[in-house]
Amino acid sequence: MAVERTLSIIKPDATRRNLTGKINQRFEDAGLRIVAQKRLHLTTAQAQAFYAVHKERPFYNDLVSFMTSGPVVAQVLEGENAVEKNREVMGATDPAKADKGTIRADFAENIEANSAHGSDSSENAAQEIRFFFSDIEIVG
Ligand code: ADP
Ligand code: MG
Repeated sequence: MAVERTLSIIKPDATRRNLTGKINQRFEDAGLRIVAQKRLHLTTAQAQAFYAVHKERPFYNDLVSFMTSGPVVAQVLEGENAVEKNREVMGATDPAKADKGTIRADFAENIEANSAHGSDSSENAAQEIRFFFSDIEIVG
């Protein structure tokens, strides 16, 4: 499996509870390297655009409100099989269904405020990384 990159976002519920360092530790312990990182407060338009794929879903408007409710930390993670590895470290979308020891099982508040985002395919990862970062900001 080749070295690849994925887009991660530490969500507002986690930044509010000062969990950035603890979550980053999970990534690094799993062999993922944080090769770009920035803290930002998304605008409504930015959150709508990032989650456009979900715009027909019933939770879309709530999700956009939540994602703009406080700062997020956007990051690029690099490593072997990074997309899938990050999904494993995060755990299932619903923390009640997430495996023990995953970020969402240990930190998420509920299915919406679930502490972390991770790209779900390498194609989406490339697109999501481009949404937040330019090449000069990513240092492998
Ligand atoms: P994931 O983040 O695990 O890839 P999805 O892409 O399906 O999950 O959903 C994107 C985000 O939308 C989730 O991380 C969560 O914040 C929110 N979400 C998903 N399903 C629900 C739901 N049933 N109710 C409320 N929010 C949801
Ligand atoms: Mg998703």
